[in-house]
Amino acid sequence: MVIIMKSGASVKEISSVVNRIEEFGMKAHPIYGEERTVIGVVGDERPVDKSLFDTLAGVENTLPILKPYKLASREFRKQDSAVHIFGTNGNSVNVGGSPNIILMAGPCAVESREQILESAHAVKEAGAKALRGGAFKPRTSPYSFQGHGEQGLEWMAEAREKYGLAIVTEVMSPDQVPLVARYADVMQIGARNMQNFALLNAVGESMKPVLLKRGMSATMEELLMAAEYILSHGNYNVMLCERGIRTFEKYTRNTLDINAVPVLKHLSHLPVVVDPSHATGKSEYVLATSRAAVAAGADGLIIEVHPDPSRAMSDGAQTLTPEQFAETVRQCRRIAEAMDRTI
Ligand code: PEP
Ligand code: MN
Repeated sequence: MVIIMKSGASVKEISSVVNRIEEFGMKAHPIYGEERTVIGVVGDERPVDKSLFDTLAGVENTLPILKPYKLASREFRKQDSAVHIFGTNGNSVNVGGSPNIILMAGPCAVESREQILESAHAVKEAGAKALRGGAFKPRTSPYSFQGHGEQGLEWMAEAREKYGLAIVTEVMSPDQVPLVARYADVMQIGARNMQNFALLNAVGESMKPVLLKRGMSATMEELLMAAEYILSHGNYNVMLCERGIRTFEKYTRNTLDINAVPVLKHLSHLPVVVDPSHATGKSEYVLATSRAAVAAGADGLIIEVHPDPSRAMSDGAQTLTPEQFAETVRQCRRIAEAMDRTI
C-alpha cells in the first residue's frame, strides 16, 4: 500500500503515520517529494484495516499496490528515479531521471594495472562516465581466469583517481560486500547471482548503488522482485540491467530483449541500463544493439572495451576496441539527439 500525504503535511504528521505503520509490524519507506510525501508500506498487510490510515492527520488517501513488487513499482513512485553515482574529483552523475544517457565501459576483467589504466583512458576520451571491470569473475569453468580479487580493485581505484571515472565492479558473495563496497562506486550483481537472496540482502544493507543484471532465464517480474529485495532494506540506488536472455537462437550468445526497456520503464521507476556486449556475445553486433537500446529509451549502456580484445582473458569476442567504442558513442549520440537526450 502507498499512503499519500497531503501537500504541506507536517514532519510530525508524517512521523506519526510512520509510527503507526511500525506498530503493525510493517516497514515504512517515505519518499519526500517537492510537492508531497508518499509513504510506501511493505510487510504483511492482512491484519490491517487500511481505512484506519485515511483517518490520520495529514493523510490524503491510501492506495493498494497490486503488483508483487512494491517499492520498485511505478505505483509507488510516479517519477523516474535517479541513481547518483560518485566518481572522483567531485564528478557525480545521475543514471535515470534525466535526459542524459550514461556510458559505462571497460574490460570484462581487470587483467593488469596497465590494461585497466589504458582502458580507462580510452573510455574516458570517448565519453564514458564510469569504468567497468571485474576483479571477481563468475566463470562457467573453475579452470578459467577468476579475476585478480583485491589487487584488481586497487588497480581500478588508481584508474578512478587518475581519470575521475566511477567504478563499476561485480560482487559475487555476501562476504565480499564490505571489501567491494570500499572500492566500488557501483556494485554489480551478475546475471548468475540475480536470485542470490543473501547477496541481494547484503548489498541492500550497504546503501551503495547497485547494477542488478537480469538472470539469463529470469522474467522481468523476477528481476523486479530481485530489485525489491535490495529496496526493502532502504537502498533505493538500484539500476536494472538487461543483458540478454537465453533463447533457442544460437548465432548470438544471448538474445537482447529490447522489449525489456519500455516494459521495465513502464512497470518501474528504476533506471534501465542495457549491456549489448553480453546480449550479443559478438563485437560486430554491439554497435547496432547499442543504437537500438538508446532508441528504446535506455538510461545507460554498459559496454566491454579492451585495448586489444584479441588478447582479452575473458569475453574477447564481444569486446570492442577503443576505436570501435568511440564510433559506437558517436552514433549513439546521434540517436540520443533524435530523442531529445544527450550522451
Ligand atoms: C560481466 O559483466 O562481465 C558479466 C559476467 O555479466 P553477466 O553477469 O551479465 O553475465
Ligand atoms: Mn564479461
